[in-house]
Amino acid sequence: MKQVVVTIDGPAGAGKSSVAKLLARRLGYRLLDTGAIYRAVALVAKRAGTPWTEGAACAQIARDLDISYDFVGDKNHVFVAGEDVSAQIRTPDISQGASQVSAHPEVRAALLELQRRLGAGGGVVVEGRDTGTVVFPTAEAKFFLTATDVERTRRRVAELAATGAAVDFEVTLREIRERDQRDASRDVAPMVPAADAVLVDSSTQTLEEVVESLAATVESRAHTP
Ligand code: C5P
Repeated sequence: MKQVVVTIDGPAGAGKSSVAKLLARRLGYRLLDTGAIYRAVALVAKRAGTPWTEGAACAQIARDLDISYDFVGDKNHVFVAGEDVSAQIRTPDISQGASQVSAHPEVRAALLELQRRLGAGGGVVVEGRDTGTVVFPTAEAKFFLTATDVERTRRRVAELAATGAAVDFEVTLREIRERDQRDASRDVAPMVPAADAVLVDSSTQTLEEVVESLAATVESRAHTP
């Protein structure tokens, strides 16, 4: 069977990470979490004292970024210059930072080639906001995964609570709406479904049901000559 490129885009908390991870495992594909790259830029900028509003300086950080991934058990670990930053890039502060740095066109341009290089050769599930529209416009299977904002907040609160973090539902809902608004309204590569993406609403489906339906679509595309 052909090794295709699969893209999964959609808003925060729609279940992209869980779906992408399970789908990659089911297909025997690699996983490329592009949000982690924007998060890593935000983290490095913060540590360097570079404000997230400084597009040129953040773009330089993006160009110099030394990022790698490694699966440890079933967890996708992210390394910057050899340091495991998996936990540090998942805080609410860095979520907002990633959303801010990602709105700078020069940051997006700097990360475009990196993402294409990491996804080269196919046999990869790519997860993000613009992976089907901008990064891999010729991907064979594109999905746009979403869920209501209340459902997405419920999931995010449960996820953060499981790590021991104290989280407030209303605050998280407001942050998710802010991030959606910023991601969908930016001038460059806004978060919109690709014209040829399959729209999937995960609000009323289990994770397994979503993965099954995506896998069936990918397999049918991979068989198409
Ligand atoms: O998916 P995740 O929540 O890790 O993404 C963090 C932020 O990175 C998003 O809110 C978005 O602003 C940005 N992002 C992006 N394009 C992508 C992936 C993520 O702009 N392909």
